[in-house]
Amino acid sequence: MKILVLNTGSSSVKYRLFDGTETLAKGLVERIGEAGGDASDHEAALQQVMAGIDLTDLGAVGHRAVHGGSEFSRPTVIDDEVVAVIERLVPLAPLHNPAALSGIAVARKLLPEVPQVAVFDTAFHQTIPPEGVTYAMDAALAERWQIRRYGFHGTSHAYVARQTAELLGLPADQARVITLHLGNGASACAVSGGHSVATSMGMSPQSGLVMGTRSGDIDPTVIFHLHRVAGLPIDEIERSLIRSAGMQGLTGENDMRTIEKRVEAGDPAATRALDVYCRRIKEYVGMYLAVLGGADAITFTAGVGQNSPVVRAAALSGLSGLGITVDKTRNESRDQIISPDGSPVAVCVIATDEELEIAQQVTAELAAHPPAAGEGGQPAAG
Ligand code: ADP
Repeated sequence: MKILVLNTGSSSVKYRLFDGTETLAKGLVERIGEAGGDASDHEAALQQVMAGIDLTDLGAVGHRAVHGGSEFSRPTVIDDEVVAVIERLVPLAPLHNPAALSGIAVARKLLPEVPQVAVFDTAFHQTIPPEGVTYAMDAALAERWQIRRYGFHGTSHAYVARQTAELLGLPADQARVITLHLGNGASACAVSGGHSVATSMGMSPQSGLVMGTRSGDIDPTVIFHLHRVAGLPIDEIERSLIRSAGMQGLTGENDMRTIEKRVEAGDPAATRALDVYCRRIKEYVGMYLAVLGGADAITFTAGVGQNSPVVRAAALSGLSGLGITVDKTRNESRDQIISPDGSPVAVCVIATDEELEIAQQVTAELAAHPPAAGEGGQPAAG
């Protein structure tokens, strides 16, 4: 059975067609709706995708859906009601959910016979206990406006935590893993027995680690100060903290490769920025060691995590007293385990694969809960 995974952004559609774990086709339609772009709208983009691939035996379409609020804790077969709930969650994810919804609408229209399944970035974190997701603020306000920690990058954290347990031969239902997804966006997660128990992103992907262009944790008073004292409009403050903060804000650029070159050349701003970036990771590792009561493994993933020995070494420096050591030679090779043999805490580098995880979750969900006959519920013909 084939699974088509779609990641629909506001101006792009990323797709990958799987047969089991094998990738049959993949690609990207970009600059949708822009002059000179690949397609005039999402429908044209998806038509283009589908014209280029062989859809015989297509068992399901898996949609990456970012924000599932408190409503979705697992992959969910899409019907009109599910669409309505994702629509209701738009205020929580004003950029991401509308894009996913247009991908879902077009795919349902073009492939009415094929079950469509939404896989949410937030779902994996629904197992975090209340004390880990509740902000200490006016409880009535929080309740009324759905304000709480949701967490993101869930498919990636789930995937690399499971891969880590497999790699180390640990029982999946007992392994305690701290996963560090360090890409343009970045988040940390504490995983116990395959379940998320803490994560660094919050109501939005803005909190936690220092990112490419996002600030990560800051005191909320910074916002009031910039508004009242500096006189900046609220939209401009938001834009600044999302687009011009993080490594971008500290160094003028967000590509970690360039920043590392500047550090080697002795650039003080880049050096400070990298120190801030790695220090924040270390602080979260410390927190999650405490939350988990110790860890079997710490795993780095995504663009920076998979490719930057400098960041990995600095983020975990000085932790040998906690059983955490990075072996210099292993760290600088392509090894998946970069701690010395026999370390109390294994340190791993694992390539994330969010599309594969989505395909596998979709397959598992359909096997466990075959959709009823009806809309989107018929198995694909042929
Ligand atoms: P996204 O969150 O957009 O999926 P990625 O996971 O691809 O991002 O990560 C992008 C980041 O990875 C960029 O900051 C890039 O500089 C960084 N990166 C990629 N390769 C390297 C490398 N060899 N060394 C350091 N950083 C790298």
